[in-house]
Amino acid sequence: MSVKALGITFLTDVDLGNHNAGEGGSQLADLKKYGNRPYISGQAYRRAIKEALRDQVDDPDTADCSSRYACGEIADCLICDLFGYMNTDEFDAGDDDTPPVKRTAPLRVSKLLGQYDRPKTTDMILQQDESEEADNRIGYREITQNVYHGGVMLDVEAVGRREQTDVDSDRAHDEIFQREFESEITSAERDARVETLVASVRSATNLAGQARHMADFMPDLVVGAVLPEYNQRLQNALNLDTESEELVVAQLESVLADIDAVDGEVWIGGTHNPDVIGNWEAVFERAADAGATVCDGVAECFDSVAEAATET
Ligand SMILES: [Zn+2]
Repeated sequence: MSVKALGITFLTDVDLGNHNAGEGGSQLADLKKYGNRPYISGQAYRRAIKEALRDQVDDPDTADCSSRYACGEIADCLICDLFGYMNTDEFDAGDDDTPPVKRTAPLRVSKLLGQYDRPKTTDMILQQDESEEADNRIGYREITQNVYHGGVMLDVEAVGRREQTDVDSDRAHDEIFQREFESEITSAERDARVETLVASVRSATNLAGQARHMADFMPDLVVGAVLPEYNQRLQNALNLDTESEELVVAQLESVLADIDAVDGEVWIGGTHNPDVIGNWEAVFERAADAGATVCDGVAECFDSVAEAATET
């Protein structure tokens, strides 16, 4: 298979905390909520993957950019390549040596959305200010425990490549649009970047508020896939029935059938945790029947996806 896309979707039980808090110096940190359930913003999750990626690379200069400063040199910079960028400064547009002002990220990251109705509480904390007038202020942080659902998709083909956006004005609008890419890296380097990224998703734990607190973000149940075309169908695979606290197996089977129909490959792995879902055995049995490869745990699932996405 010529792999065009890679996807990972997961459920993870996360300890009591407020995983968006810690941004800014606010004394009141309410949970971000959708309805009655907490969520962790896509921005916070993306930042956590970036942090994990910085720990993965051998040369820190290849992962040095921030969203405030982006070099735009995708040949040398994993951050600009994988996460995209938008430079608001005016560049010298006609200059061939200047990278384009923006890049669409090959990596798409979801929010992490809490799945169950669980109690919330407020934690009173002493904020130790590093500044000179370090009066220890009291802060309040709303915290909760929940099972979060999230995922990522990678447009594998776009890694290290720039899409040519030149429009041929002679063409009629209804003509099929062809994606044309110009590669700035070797295929070995592309494979290395895909592997680094998958490892970063696996180990992304450094969400906001985690500097002093400990919380295990490693997925408890993960489904990964490689696809010969880009689609995000995989992200619908793990839907929970919030009443029974079981995974909706029929929906998982339908999604696996859709992926099978485009000749995609799927792996599923889990670290048994009854707080996540109540029907582990049924999920693995029926996923296997629907063509997924059942892995011995979560790490093997990530490794299998990375391996399949990089084998030629
Ligand atoms: Zn950069």
